[in-house]
Amino acid sequence: MRVAMIGTGYVGLVSGTCFSDFGHEVTCIDKDASKIERLKQGEIPIFEPGLEDLVRRNVAAGRLQFDTDLTQAVRSADVVFIAVGTPSRRGDGHADLSYVHAAAREIARTAEGFTVVVTKSTVPVGTGSDLEHIIAEAAPEADIAVVSNPEFLREGAAIEDFKRPDRVVIGTDDPRAREVMAALYRPLSLNAAPILFTERNTAELIKYAANAFLAMKITFINEMADLCEKVGGNVQEVARGIGLDGRIGSKFLHAGPGYGGSCFPKDTLALMRTAQEAGAPTRLIETVTTVNESRKAAMGRRVLEALDVPPRGATVAVLGLTFKPNTDDMRDSPAINIVQSLLDRGVKVRAFDPVGMAEARKVLPDSVEYASGPYECAEGADGLVIVTEWDAFRALDLDRLKQVLRSPIVVDLRNIYPPGDLISRGFKYVGIGRGHLT
Ligand code: NAD
Repeated sequence: MRVAMIGTGYVGLVSGTCFSDFGHEVTCIDKDASKIERLKQGEIPIFEPGLEDLVRRNVAAGRLQFDTDLTQAVRSADVVFIAVGTPSRRGDGHADLSYVHAAAREIARTAEGFTVVVTKSTVPVGTGSDLEHIIAEAAPEADIAVVSNPEFLREGAAIEDFKRPDRVVIGTDDPRAREVMAALYRPLSLNAAPILFTERNTAELIKYAANAFLAMKITFINEMADLCEKVGGNVQEVARGIGLDGRIGSKFLHAGPGYGGSCFPKDTLALMRTAQEAGAPTRLIETVTTVNESRKAAMGRRVLEALDVPPRGATVAVLGLTFKPNTDDMRDSPAINIVQSLLDRGVKVRAFDPVGMAEARKVLPDSVEYASGPYECAEGADGLVIVTEWDAFRALDLDRLKQVLRSPIVVDLRNIYPPGDLISRGFKYVGIGRGHLT
């Protein structure tokens, strides 16, 4: 099949490349000319494990191409995906659909013959119907079916998630579109991935419901962590103790600095706004977003309180900046709040991240200093905070760390160290939800 992927970011590039790996002919399109130029040179504009190799192989096989202009690819496509960004709209938290609408107009003017247009971007319920109107207005003669096919991949494990998904959700009531989508995903159904066909509005809602539920799960365990700190319990054991119950499940029960990233913050807000306007407010999710915001702010205070010296003029080493490991994505990373609250109190921040520093420089204040490794980062610092649980931080040489720090203080916001390992070496250790362990 011929596929055009509009938007070549984390989702578009991974899904386009995986579709080409299934044997489809794919063109990934992006308005960002420098991104397309880099891809044509064989350079991958994002960090995603395994992606470089997969792109190279499929380009070499002639199944994967890149373009800044959609005309040629859309004209011959059986399926056109919209995988552009849907960020929060400034001021009201609604999903900003301007990129999606613009893409739909361009597709409408270009498509020839029966074409399935698929929203892979996360879009609020009803967007599919809006796109039908936009397309009918721009090109009344066009023979187009609009389908919802939300994406559930996780950055850092995106290829595996795309190729072996827990499920694929396809929202359409058009029989021709259903046939095309079934053929497109046939290689996955051979792998026994459940393909859930449903009505379009339902598919759009499934994506938001899934993200809101996961955000709620994280927030729940974070509150249990706070309680453990007050009454003396261990949140990791609480998580294990409840997670072994099949009705609850063990995933997404890691207490930490609050959720961030390119999806949960904006998607919970957008769901809240949709629900408020529909007259069915999601009070649970409203609370989740408020609790999470205050948690992110509290993490900076936690670091400041752990220091033995006044904040002004102190140096804090920050390990990990991206919102999670194995990605360079800094969007809404908890590190942004933490670093800012340290700087606001006059702390000097020195940071290290294995792959995220180029992106971090774009979003963090210029006064942040960047180090070449974890020990260089810790050198002479009055305390160290682990913000992102990269593997590279899980087995640090603790004796060396103690030697290079001015004060042996570690705030471990991801609970990656057994407290005893540090305390026995004379560190002051502050974790999350593991009683009073300093
Ligand atoms: P991204 O910002 O990495 O990529 C979007 C790309 O679209 C950009 O490169 C931009 O230049 C391009 N673009 C915008 N308008 C265009 C147009 N008219 N024509 C061609 N290109 C255009 O975004 P992302 O992280 O890939 O997310 C895309 C969508 O997928 C969002 O709705 C997001 O919520 C959803 N999603 C993301 C993830 C994730 O982990 N990142 C997971 C599931 C779903």
